[in-house]
Amino acid sequence: MVENVPCLTHHHDGVTIEGYSRAAVQTCWRINELKLLFDVGVQPWDFMGTPVMFISHAHLDHIAALPAYVSRRRMMKMSPPIVYMPDSAVDTAWDMLQNFRRLDRGAMPCELVGLLPGDEAHISREYVVTALPTRHTIDSVGFVVHHRRHKLKPEFQDLSGSKIRDVKHSGIEVTTEIRIPVLAYTGDTNPRGLDENPVFFDAKILISEMTFVAPEHRKEKIHKHGHMHVDDYRDRAERFNNELIIAAHLSTRYNAAQVKRFVQKALPDGLDGRLKLWL
Ligand SMILES: [Zn+2]
Ligand SMILES: [Zn+2]
Repeated sequence: MVENVPCLTHHHDGVTIEGYSRAAVQTCWRINELKLLFDVGVQPWDFMGTPVMFISHAHLDHIAALPAYVSRRRMMKMSPPIVYMPDSAVDTAWDMLQNFRRLDRGAMPCELVGLLPGDEAHISREYVVTALPTRHTIDSVGFVVHHRRHKLKPEFQDLSGSKIRDVKHSGIEVTTEIRIPVLAYTGDTNPRGLDENPVFFDAKILISEMTFVAPEHRKEKIHKHGHMHVDDYRDRAERFNNELIIAAHLSTRYNAAQVKRFVQKALPDGLDGRLKLWL
């Protein structure tokens, strides 16, 4: 493996979260067990092995390395990736890739898929990803990964296995689908992105943004620019039902020690120990 990019790793209940995210620098995530990438402000060399990517919005620190991702997969003879992104960004992203094709003289095989809030992407038999409306300064979406399971309908629960098979063979649907939100990624958003999509509070793992932490920064201005402050987390402390809450995308105006100090002050118990600062 070539170490070409700073990258942090965290394990939670069989899921490996890897990535790097600082505001205006770069954001990228990989969830290996779900075979998913989120955002591509930069591309760690070995992330190219994952063929499905979801881009939250087209700010440069979230999309700049898209040509590198597409081109590297081609060079390494991997299949063309499927890249989901806000619908309004697709045509321009496609043109950008074609311009790189002219510069680089290499093909850019990929499928770009536009998403509107509410759209679903069936990435496998077991997992479906839903796009949710977030609040940023340009078109943006967040994502929730649902694990789909099939549960026997209550009216069939007392039947024996062979009876259930008979019913099934007669063409009657014996199961209903249940969806468990296992992981959510908000991308850049102000707190309305959380409040308007309660599933973010219920996903097992939430990856979100905490761009600002110092008390002197004005909330109205932060929200207007489509970002969150640690106080927005404090104001919603009771609402987070997540097992793990990753706060990333911290501004470069703070060093790690400052972030920890401000967050410790605002949230002394770190949301019952569930908050993980991505530093
Ligand atoms: Zn950003
Ligand atoms: Zn942004």
